[in-house]
Amino acid sequence: MNVDRRGHLNKYLPFSLVDGPGNRFVLFLQGCNFDCVVCHNPYTIDECNGCNICVDLCPDSALTLGTSTKPDVNHFACTDCDICIEVCPIDSTPLSSYVTVGDMLDKIRPTAPFLSGITVSGGEATLQPEFIRDLFAAIKNDPDLNHLTTLVDSNGSAAPAVWDMLAPVMDGAMIDLKALDADTHLRMTAQANGSVLASIRYLAGLDLLHEVRLLIAPGLNDSIETASKTADWLRTIDESLTLKIIGFRKNGTRPVASHIVEPDAEMLTGIANTYRAAGFSDVLII
Ligand code: SF4
Ligand code: SF4
Repeated sequence: MNVDRRGHLNKYLPFSLVDGPGNRFVLFLQGCNFDCVVCHNPYTIDECNGCNICVDLCPDSALTLGTSTKPDVNHFACTDCDICIEVCPIDSTPLSSYVTVGDMLDKIRPTAPFLSGITVSGGEATLQPEFIRDLFAAIKNDPDLNHLTTLVDSNGSAAPAVWDMLAPVMDGAMIDLKALDADTHLRMTAQANGSVLASIRYLAGLDLLHEVRLLIAPGLNDSIETASKTADWLRTIDESLTLKIIGFRKNGTRPVASHIVEPDAEMLTGIANTYRAAGFSDVLII
């Protein structure tokens, strides 16, 4: 365990009720290896390359050319207008920062008595496994923090060796399954789904699969036939899995998603009922 271990953080939320059970402190790490059409945090995908396009366009002069590869941010001047994120040509942000495990423990400690746990999300959290391992280990070893459960929210691309590294200090992982069908997954994420399917099976075997998240995007993966085939595959793993049916939301997405409509309640209920009919009893629509 190394409290000086550095991670690349996009942002954190001191309280969240939607990133796992109970009231959670959530870290969103910067950088992702998928390029999902439906991504609603696209500015977490890439690392800033220091092109400095955003510096001159900041209306509050909160950005300056720094000595590092990324603009320096004056957080007192920044008004959170997000213009720098909108103009970034590579889906990045100048507002991310490098933090240590110790920095994050200092942020978590004041509200820890009111928290149920910590969730590390992204971007893709598992691209920074040593940071997560050392953060979770520090929490588990601290008498004031060890009541907090430790969860990872992931696209499922990590190799078994990464899950093995996290397993001793992680209470579970929430895995997004965008599509069981290989071509659909490639179209939705620009990546193959073999590692995602393998992660779901591997984590279930370790008893660390907290839930499988199924994002429904009309026109891409919303047919009852798709749900039925996915249910058949998930049943080969564990019928007691928790499944979350999540309707696509346009909020925050890029123009590439402009043609996708938000699913209505009837569609999501039909899909949820398909999983229930296949034997899953723990199916939630969110
Ligand atoms: S955040 Fe984007 S626009 Fe700003 S310097 Fe980095 S790459 Fe360029
Ligand atoms: S969000 Fe970005 S563009 Fe807006 S004030 Fe802050 S640094 Fe400037």
